[in-house]
Amino acid sequence: MFVDKVRITVIGGRGGDGAVAFHREKYVASGGPDGGDGGHGGSVILRVNDNLTTLLDFRYKRKYQAPSGISGMGRKMAGKRGEPLIIQVPRGTVVRDAETNQIIVDMSTGEDFVIAKGGRGGWGNAHYATATRQVPRFAKSGRKGEERDVILELKLLADVGLVGFPNVGKSTLLSVTSNARPKIANYHFTTLFPNLGVIYVDEGVSFIMADIPGIIEGAADGAGLGHDFLRHIDRCRLLVHVIDVSGSEGRDPVEDFDAICAELKNYSVDLSSRPMIVAANKVDLLPPDSDHLERLRAHVEQAGCELYEISAGTTQGTRNLMRVVAQKLSTLPPVTIYEPEYVAPVAEAGSPEDLEIEHSGHVWVVTGKWLENLILDINFEEYESRNYFDLVLRRSGLFQRLEEMGIEDGDTVDIYDFEFEYQR
Ligand code: GDP
Ligand code: MG
Repeated sequence: MFVDKVRITVIGGRGGDGAVAFHREKYVASGGPDGGDGGHGGSVILRVNDNLTTLLDFRYKRKYQAPSGISGMGRKMAGKRGEPLIIQVPRGTVVRDAETNQIIVDMSTGEDFVIAKGGRGGWGNAHYATATRQVPRFAKSGRKGEERDVILELKLLADVGLVGFPNVGKSTLLSVTSNARPKIANYHFTTLFPNLGVIYVDEGVSFIMADIPGIIEGAADGAGLGHDFLRHIDRCRLLVHVIDVSGSEGRDPVEDFDAICAELKNYSVDLSSRPMIVAANKVDLLPPDSDHLERLRAHVEQAGCELYEISAGTTQGTRNLMRVVAQKLSTLPPVTIYEPEYVAPVAEAGSPEDLEIEHSGHVWVVTGKWLENLILDINFEEYESRNYFDLVLRRSGLFQRLEEMGIEDGDTVDIYDFEFEYQR
């Protein structure tokens, strides 16, 4: 079974809790707070593995959760952070947000991608010691990791896609021209998942060709095999349409050509207008009195495509075809990499009444649902992001409320472990 589209849930590990502890030593009556911080939860990371060409592994496992961070301990000992959970995907896996269907990332470049961040570890009480509050009896609990449902969809990265009816010789062509060893047999649908092969034409000249399971009539409407596979050639720059010109299966090559073209068009107009080269295969089996080749050539040329005679079985003409393909590719734009469409939703500022404010001395601890969401979106290492945060807080009326409650310049405001000094 070939699996090329799955829905999975990814969950970052929970952050470890901060510790409440006090320094104890012989002869020292009561030491200061020394509770260590909890470790951050592990993140879920996507990584390309070039040995994979299907999403089969995801079929039986749908939930991926990274390990939690360990809680902090006394003596300012921080808890260990959770290990990242690495999910291996085939190159060309396009990841979408399950709710909006927007593209989050195209795993084509080979760079790792953090798909679910681990929760932050909570601060231990050692952090909360201030001049005026020397016995903080509280610490922060760890935050939950990010959780999201995503759809993984495989859109292989190949320059060339082989299309054609089953049994016309696509797998044979790939096997004689590349390092790939696809299954070849004289029955339909031997190819159940795509094979990729690298074809070296000349020094420094190579390309990737994909053999996908045969397309059959009605495939684009979802009848039988084929439909699902068309998405794999979505990004191919060039199609090589293989046709059994010998009529060895009793079919007519001209009808075959039209049928496959109609399937492509049905699937997407974009795909049907992709540059195409026709490989008239099995010429070694061509009966001497056959007019198949001539009729096909005339028909194909009328459709604006070039035709090359080959015999994948005897490798006659295959090297030449690969050279023509490489030459054509050099004139075409590179493989499409999809741009991310998904933008993390920006939390709406709520009203200051929805916030809880606790204060002890000069420390003001502010909590509230919308604030918690907002803070997840802020990267405090970025100036822009911090500015935005400040703006949202101002607009929300939080500062006004703090002033009404008596906050003074220089007091500490603590918002989910993010601390800053209050300045009017
Ligand atoms: P696919 O379904 O399009 O991938 O077709 P295969 O590559 O699996 O080939 C189907 C059958 O046709 C196999 O038995 C091949 O050995 C045979 N075949 C492929 N190309 C040629 C050819 O050029 N000449 C001959 N005589 N047989 C071929
Ligand atoms: Mg095949």
